[in-house]
Amino acid sequence: MPTPLRGPRTGEPVPHAEVLVVGGGNAGISLAAKLLRDGARDVVLLEPSPVHRYRPLLNYVGSGQATPADVERPTSTVVPPGCRWVQDAVASVQPAARTVLTRRGATIGYTTLVVCPGMREDWAATPGLQDAYTAGWAGSTYVPSSAPLVWPALKGLREGSVVFTVPPEPAPCGPTALKPALMACDYWRRAGVLGNLDVTVVLPDAEPLGVAGADEHLEAAFARYGVTVLRRSRLASVDPVLRTVEIATPTGTRRLDDVAYAHAVPHYRAPEWITESGLGGPSPAGLVDIDPETLRSRRHDDVWAIGDAAGIATRSSGGALRKQVKVLAHNIAAASRGRRLHSYDGYTVMPVTTSRRRLMLVQADRKGPRPLPLLNPFAPRPSAFWFDRHVLPQVYFRRLLRGKV
Ligand SMILES: Cc1cc2nc3c(=O)[nH]c(=O)nc-3n(C[C@H](O)[C@H](O)[C@H](O)COP(=O)(O)OP(=O)(O)OC[C@H]3O[C@@H](n4cnc5c(N)ncnc54)[C@H](O)[C@@H]3O)c2cc1C
Repeated sequence: MPTPLRGPRTGEPVPHAEVLVVGGGNAGISLAAKLLRDGARDVVLLEPSPVHRYRPLLNYVGSGQATPADVERPTSTVVPPGCRWVQDAVASVQPAARTVLTRRGATIGYTTLVVCPGMREDWAATPGLQDAYTAGWAGSTYVPSSAPLVWPALKGLREGSVVFTVPPEPAPCGPTALKPALMACDYWRRAGVLGNLDVTVVLPDAEPLGVAGADEHLEAAFARYGVTVLRRSRLASVDPVLRTVEIATPTGTRRLDDVAYAHAVPHYRAPEWITESGLGGPSPAGLVDIDPETLRSRRHDDVWAIGDAAGIATRSSGGALRKQVKVLAHNIAAASRGRRLHSYDGYTVMPVTTSRRRLMLVQADRKGPRPLPLLNPFAPRPSAFWFDRHVLPQVYFRRLLRGKV
């Protein structure tokens, strides 16, 4: 089992990695494993956290259908054999010198750098939100420390008003923020209390997914549960003392009073050091500026990026990484040999539950929907729910994190 290296102290000789992978989430672990499977000899992973999470299951934690233990594994058990793990975090990158500076003060050189530190919560974007999480009146499945508190808060509600927000892009698989909302509605319906609850869903766009053939299933679910939908809207601020939620809508700010619980997903952005190191693009969220097809930095040929922090010109998701990892592993090897690079077509997934037993699996790429060859391909199905809740976690830990993409 790989043990973490602490990295050198400042002033010691600069160690060097042939491939330095920044971030050991879904992207970094899968890529490191794939590179090693393909014959790479010197792969170093820079990851500060001792815990690795399969984050899609957090939505099931927030609906009482999974536990934190289902989600988490020690990082030491998912780092692939042969990979050197430095338990430290990047503070900055010096692309001209081909080095990264870590928070512990080490400098590590690289031949190839892969940037995949994910996104972080932009708490400053929503005044009051962090205090509201601390107070327990707001929370969400998107914040790992909050996810186990969501279901205890939702399942006891019998009356009053509840708000669920879908974060604006970029966000980690934003549409899945509808999962806890619709699973809770189904629970309340079965418990016979849905009629006493005033449920509001806040969508960043006009349609829930923007995928023809799929949106109608979600609209039908909203209608069935009697949900009020605020469209082209986003969370503006919350007040945990007054229990109010302010939503920015196309016609002005709307205030929701006496909210019993706010499932308020934070807005997201890339870590600031990406832009400060000259790797960011023009987007305000500061995603790594890459060619979204080759996944290579537009400015530095030896820098690449995948995952939530990368400007991939599609919605980010773990499902998208299956394709990105394959393309990037090929492209890193191809670039070193002067061969043709492969293209990532923007494939991504949006799995959304419409009840506690049915899920619609929506796949798309930059050209549009990629429906399965089925009659009514996006229809919510029990089999898709089972696959998402029970099969995919096994596939993730046993295959994807082992580079079998
Ligand atoms: C609640 C929720 C539900 C989701 N549901 C689905 C779903 O149903 N289907 C789906 O396909 N996708 C889903 N996703 C999205 C999916 O989890 C992400 O797209 C995926 O995890 C992205 O992987 P990543 O490696 O880019 O980022 P992450 O998984 O966030 O990993 C980033 C890693 O980088 C590390 N890191 C951060 N900063 C630094 C630094 N400075 N130096 C070094 N390392 C650093 C972090 O510790 C972390 O381990 C969901 C996400 C959430 C939050």
